Amino acid sequence: MRIAVIGAGIAGATVASRLHAAGVEVEVFEKARGPSGRMSTRRTEHGDFDHGAQYFTARHPVFRATVADWIARGLVAPWDACIVTVEDGIVEVESDPPTRYVGVPRMSVLARDLIGPVALRTGVRIASLARAASSWSLQDEGGSSWGPYDACVLAVPAPQAVPLLEASPALARRAAAASLAPCHATLVRFEDKLPVPFDAAFVRHSPLAWIARNESKPGRSGAHVWVLHSTPEYSLGRLEAEPAEVSQDLLRALSRAVCGALPEVAFATTHRWLHARAESGRGTSPDLDREAGLGVCGDWTLGDRVEDAFLSGDLLFGVMRDAWGL
Ligand SMILES: Cc1cc2nc3c(=O)[nH]c(=O)nc-3n(C[C@H](O)[C@H](O)[C@H](O)COP(=O)(O)OP(=O)(O)OC[C@H]3O[C@@H](n4cnc5c(N)ncnc54)[C@H](O)[C@@H]3O)c2cc1C
Repeated sequence: MRIAVIGAGIAGATVASRLHAAGVEVEVFEKARGPSGRMSTRRTEHGDFDHGAQYFTARHPVFRATVADWIARGLVAPWDACIVTVEDGIVEVESDPPTRYVGVPRMSVLARDLIGPVALRTGVRIASLARAASSWSLQDEGGSSWGPYDACVLAVPAPQAVPLLEASPALARRAAAASLAPCHATLVRFEDKLPVPFDAAFVRHSPLAWIARNESKPGRSGAHVWVLHSTPEYSLGRLEAEPAEVSQDLLRALSRAVCGALPEVAFATTHRWLHARAESGRGTSPDLDREAGLGVCGDWTLGDRVEDAFLSGDLLFGVMRDAWGL
């Protein structure tokens, strides 16, 4: 059996690794230059920035077992940071924090590890799928055709899945009903230490939702390197704003949140995540249209976190295995 997986985030990487281990011939297509999607890391001369997922928690036994293996192999470590809530300048330390994990030395190592020996085509955006007899072919935006495949898995955010799901009205309806909120990530290096008594904070009553000193995570390079995440409300109102304008807004918000002047900025840039966090999906599951030979997985099919994305890939593999005797 030959299966194409579209999207090399943690969900696509997980289902691809499971299929490969079951002896299926798998090919993964990713529009970006490398795998990991929203768990990617921006590498700059000023240091590395985890500009998407900041950390992850592990509650489900299947994910916990994988995390334990990653820890044993030095790919994951707990992030023992001082994480607080900041509300109108008042700092409150968490009373019973969960164990938060990060990829080492960057978040993107985990999707790379899962993909391992699986065939990965990066820089290929799949624009359409075509079904002929009982096999699929994929067309990329450059006009090249890939295939044939017996089945396709879409492991992309719901709005990006919809145009590829024409052959399965039920899956298309489901993806169309899911929504993902945007987020701006401003990546900043200060010339000096930001004078705050914490490593990261959930911010309330602000255009900022979260701030983190990136080098407080294990194995990170850089000094005085911070990641600032906006609230969905802020980003919805600034979808077309210039990155420099957003950087200024979020730096001003940071100054207000910590009630003080900021050190001089050595570098600042802003990345817009159009589909950052799923707003629906909890309690549902990844899905397979057996007749069409199409599957969907991704965080939005289960929840809104790294763990949900991983589990969605794992669960979809289980459904495919049972359906097709893999
Ligand atoms: C700013 C931000 C902060 C977050 N913070 C946390 C956190 O602290 N903890 C947590 O647990 N989760 C967090 N998350 C959520 C977490 O990152 C996601 O739940 C998870 O990474 C989603 O993985 P995925 O594989 O489902 O999707 P993605 O990572 O989005 O992967 C989908 C991939 O598909 C590719 N793709 C899309 N369309 C096509 C196409 N047509 N052809 C080819 N490739 C395509 C994309 O380039 C992408 O690489 C955060 C997310 C963001 C954006």
